[in-house]
Amino acid sequence: MAGLTELVVATRNKKKLREIKDLLKGLPLKITSLADYPYAPRIIENGRTFQENARKKALKIAAFTGKLTLGEDSGLEVEALDGRPGIHSSRFSGKNKSDLQNNLKLLRLLAGIPLTKRKARYRCCVALADKKGLVFEAEGSCSGLIGFKMQGDSGFGYDPLFVIPKYKKTFAQLGERLKHKMSHRSRALEKLRRFITSYL
Ligand code: IMP
Repeated sequence: MAGLTELVVATRNKKKLREIKDLLKGLPLKITSLADYPYAPRIIENGRTFQENARKKALKIAAFTGKLTLGEDSGLEVEALDGRPGIHSSRFSGKNKSDLQNNLKLLRLLAGIPLTKRKARYRCCVALADKKGLVFEAEGSCSGLIGFKMQGDSGFGYDPLFVIPKYKKTFAQLGERLKHKMSHRSRALEKLRRFITSYL
């Protein structure tokens, strides 16, 4: 892999990492993750915003590895729940709970609420840091509706409930290729891609 710059993605979430690798394809990068750095410090996600958490991940891991590092924090904001689960998306139904349990909790909280009032937004913040500090930040979002039942088996997290009105299908039904055309993560990473092209 001579000639490639290493980019450490500060995550242990395999599905998220796969999406990030797909979305950064073609750049002259060797993409690694925390799976390649088993002794990396644990990151406590106690920021008040997605941006703060993304920054924290990037800075902490860049300081540890000395490598160019990408911090990514994302989640779902549901209008009828005043923006919840937001930064707590991965642990909405409790620590170490599954995506299925999070989805079931969301369905329970929205029971009886009509489709027009089930607006939601995925958000993604990315931060790029090297050992000297932050070099770039960006964010992306994607609007949709929370369906009445889980449908589809692609993607992860809340994808089986996240309906794109134009297609009347969930992200989990639409599959990776279509998700990547409009997702919060692809929008944030497209900005990062442009930056990295000029930075390298
Ligand atoms: P993080 O790893 O702390 O950023 O948590 C992100 C959480 O937000 C995930 O565990 C999911 O619950 C949710 N999430 C973020 N992006 C997506 C997505 O693209 N699809 C489905 N759920 C997502």
